[in-house]
Amino acid sequence: MLRKVPEMRNALSVDVEEYFHPAEICGAVRSENWDSLPSRVELQTERVLDMLATRNICGTFFVLGWVADRHPKLIRRIAAAGHEIGCHSYAHRLVYDLTPLEFKQDTERAVKAIEDAAGIVPRVYRAPSFSITSRSLWALEVLVECGFTHDSSIYPIQHDRYGIPGFSRHAQILNTASGPIMEVPVATARLPGDRVVPVGGGGYLRLLPYRYTAAGIRRINEDEDAPACLYFHPWELDPGQPRLASTWTSRVRTYAGMGSMAAKVARLLRDFQFTTLAALHPAPAN
Ligand SMILES: [Zn+2]
Repeated sequence: MLRKVPEMRNALSVDVEEYFHPAEICGAVRSENWDSLPSRVELQTERVLDMLATRNICGTFFVLGWVADRHPKLIRRIAAAGHEIGCHSYAHRLVYDLTPLEFKQDTERAVKAIEDAAGIVPRVYRAPSFSITSRSLWALEVLVECGFTHDSSIYPIQHDRYGIPGFSRHAQILNTASGPIMEVPVATARLPGDRVVPVGGGGYLRLLPYRYTAAGIRRINEDEDAPACLYFHPWELDPGQPRLASTWTSRVRTYAGMGSMAAKVARLLRDFQFTTLAALHPAPAN
C-alpha cells in the first residue's frame, strides 16, 4: 500500500558536535581534555548524511566551530550534499554564562572556523542547549551584528536549563537594535489547559515513543497549519560511544533510548517532508 506523505514541509536540523560536548557532560569532561578523547563525529554524521540522502532530504546542519577546525572535510561533505550550514557556537558554552563581548568573540571565531573549513559564511544560528533565554536575549542583537539572518535558539517551554515559557511557538521576525532576525523555535505542542510541551526531537524523540513526536508534528501541521522545526544530534544515533555522563539524570538525558533513535529518525524522514530552515522561513529584509 502506498503511504501518503503530508504535503507540509517541516524544518529538519542537526546539531553537529562530539559526544563529549553536550551540557550534560561538561561537568565530567573539561574542554582542555576534549582533544584527548577519541573522535566519533565523522562516523556519526556520515550515517546521518546517508539517511538523508536515501530520502533525498536536505536539512540545516548547525556546526560547532571546534568541530569545523578539526574536521573541515566533514563540513565540506555536508555542504556538498546540499545541506544548509549553520553555526552552533565555537566551544559549546552556554550563552547566558557569557558576557555579550565573550559571546561575540565565540560567535566570530565559529563563523571563521566554518568559513575556513567550507568556504561558507553561516547565516543561521543555534545556541548550545537553547541557551538564549530571557536572561540572554541580548544575544540576538549580537547575532545580527555578526551577519546572522536566522536564529533557532529560543525554546518556548519550561525547563531547568533553557526555555522562555510563553514565547511565540511559531517562526517570527524579531527586531533588535541592530536589525531584524528570523526566530525559528523548535517544535512544541499546545495541550488543553494552555500547557506547552516539547515535540522538537532530541531527547524527547529518544526517550518517548515515536508516536508522541509524530502526533505532535501532525498537530502543528494540521491544526495550526504551520511547519514544525525538528532537531537531533548525530551522537544520539550511536549507542557505541563512550559513556561520560556521571549523574543519574545526565545519564538518562544523554543515553536513554539511543538504541532505537536511528529507527525513529528513519521513520520521521519517511512519514514527513523536510527541508532547511532558510528554505521554509525567508530571511527578513534589512
Ligand atoms: Zn549542542
